[in-house]
Amino acid sequence: MPNTQTLHTEEQIWDYIREVTDPEIPVLNIIEMGVARSVDIDHSGKVTVKITPTYSGCPAMNAIEKMVKEKLEEKDIEDFEVKLDFSEAWTTDWMTDEAKVKLKDYGIAPPEKSVNDDDFLKSLSGTKIVPCPFCDSFETELQSQFGSTACKSQYFCNSCHQPFEHFKCI
Ligand SMILES: [Zn+2]
Repeated sequence: MPNTQTLHTEEQIWDYIREVTDPEIPVLNIIEMGVARSVDIDHSGKVTVKITPTYSGCPAMNAIEKMVKEKLEEKDIEDFEVKLDFSEAWTTDWMTDEAKVKLKDYGIAPPEKSVNDDDFLKSLSGTKIVPCPFCDSFETELQSQFGSTACKSQYFCNSCHQPFEHFKCI
């Protein structure tokens, strides 16, 4: 039996994965999110893609795994495996700087670098002050720990009077 499976390079697989966007943040793909960790093709042509879930319990993760599988199928890749990699916990530091800019342009306050979290501005009540993604004002207030999903919290800007979401830092 001749091997009829089209051979793909790792670069091509990365290009395919780049077409998979975060189900909650459609302006970001899963490479920018830091969710796609590695692509391997073994000697038999089997493709293994490793993804690391963002927030544990985030319903988006099952959706992402499914979307990666569907994308590989769509590209006629027959022999593949999508593995969830829990060896390291995902952190918002894995998001590219470009991703954070896109997030802000989308109207979601990006996560701060977790290493700097202690230095981040704190209000008298001890809650974190998140600058408004629209006008950069610090006159914002936390309205709910949970926005449209558990991964985001809901804020309101008292300066430009717009609600916005903040992508939580872990
Ligand atoms: Zn504002």
